[in-house]
Amino acid sequence: MACDVLVLGAGMVGTCTALQLARRGHSVALVDRRPPGRETSYGNAGIIQREAVEPYAFPREWASVFDVAFKRGIDVNYHFSALPAVLPRLARYWHASAPARYAPIAQAYSRLIEHCLTEHQALMDESGAGDLVRKEGYHFAFRTPAAMEQAVARAADLARRYGVRHALLDSDALARAEPGLRRPMAGALHWLDPWSVNDPGALVARYARRFAELGGQVVEADASGLRPVGGGWQVQTAAGPLAARHAVVALGPWADPLIAPLGYRLPLFVKRGYHRHYRGGPGLRLPLLDAERGLVLAPMAQGMRITTGAEFARIGAPATPVQLDKAEAAARELLDLPQPVEPEPWMGNRPCTVDMKPVIGPAPQHPGLWFNFGHAHQGFTLGPVSGRLLAEMIEGSPPVVDPAPYSAARF
Ligand SMILES: Cc1cc2nc3c(=O)[nH]c(=O)nc-3n(C[C@H](O)[C@H](O)[C@H](O)COP(=O)(O)OP(=O)(O)OC[C@H]3O[C@@H](n4cnc5c(N)ncnc54)[C@H](O)[C@@H]3O)c2cc1C
Repeated sequence: MACDVLVLGAGMVGTCTALQLARRGHSVALVDRRPPGRETSYGNAGIIQREAVEPYAFPREWASVFDVAFKRGIDVNYHFSALPAVLPRLARYWHASAPARYAPIAQAYSRLIEHCLTEHQALMDESGAGDLVRKEGYHFAFRTPAAMEQAVARAADLARRYGVRHALLDSDALARAEPGLRRPMAGALHWLDPWSVNDPGALVARYARRFAELGGQVVEADASGLRPVGGGWQVQTAAGPLAARHAVVALGPWADPLIAPLGYRLPLFVKRGYHRHYRGGPGLRLPLLDAERGLVLAPMAQGMRITTGAEFARIGAPATPVQLDKAEAAARELLDLPQPVEPEPWMGNRPCTVDMKPVIGPAPQHPGLWFNFGHAHQGFTLGPVSGRLLAEMIEGSPPVVDPAPYSAARF
């Protein structure tokens, strides 16, 4: 079996890469050990974050660093056993978050985010996925006026520098917009540009179905046996070896174990996150970030999804959903939540890099090998544009944005 390109990993990033290549007429196999969209890209908050022009920085104020270190908030947790491996990476993450270093990172990031809606729109149109999406933005809600005031100043700054739009809702306006809320809030920022998807895994599955309609092969196989053969790349499948001139590593949080044996030591780590659904009750119209507690409430086809912030742990370490327990308690202050749908919470891994930018482009030492991973908090948002950029680089056609800031060679 042979094709032009093997795309390894069928999350949002890999599926969009495969679809973008197939739309351009290439023969592509999309390889995953599970059906498309069943890992991180299934369990996120489903927000296509057009407002997230700047990536999630490590806190720089000492008070916030101590909050993290002493696990004072619900938004961050860590395993002591993971610290020896993760601390050097967190130190680099903290270093990259200093204002002077962060500014060009944010500039580069915003150039990708700029295209997220148009690229999703094009794929949604082709895939018949319009029924999964709400184009009404989402709310950053605040419990205290002081927190709101700070966020309003930042939103005004982002509006000025990047043109992202928001509206301010006072306490009454938020209560009118979300009548299900059971306690008065100080107010909310309504980000107007983002979209939200009521079943993120289903959107990936629709993109994969479109890919198959265009002649792409969706192959269930383990990518870990990837090896160079005869000027190309090959993986083993149940039906025999599958070979191509190019291979794209789009394994999200699992990229490291595949590329490390090839000699790539990239500073990657994961931020784990949890979710659980709650069915019934008055619910919400739009997703809502409880900004001072650090949890998201997102209305989904499966029920109200509560998602948590970051947990620093080894990727395969047992689940410790302490943040979800606290997030559930905080959410119950805001909404009448019936009992959870699932007996156990879902857990996923945000694939992160120390400088907050994804890795998109050629593997520096292996012709025909390409990287597309490390999209951290916004991989669901960025899949289509990142996939387009990589497809253009493989083809050698003019890229939608300058790929230099995302090169693996920067580390
Ligand atoms: C709680 C939470 C909330 C989030 N909310 C948002 C949000 O609202 N908006 C947003 O933009 N982003 C959000 N994110 C981030 C987003 O979900 C991720 O950035 C994105 O899903 C990463 O996509 P991916 O395709 O790189 O990885 P994945 O979706 O994890 O895909 C990787 C694929 O590789 C496959 N794979 C791994 N190893 C192998 C192997 N050996 N062989 C074959 N296949 C393999 C896996 O099965 C998987 O399908 C959130 C994340 C979390 C955890």
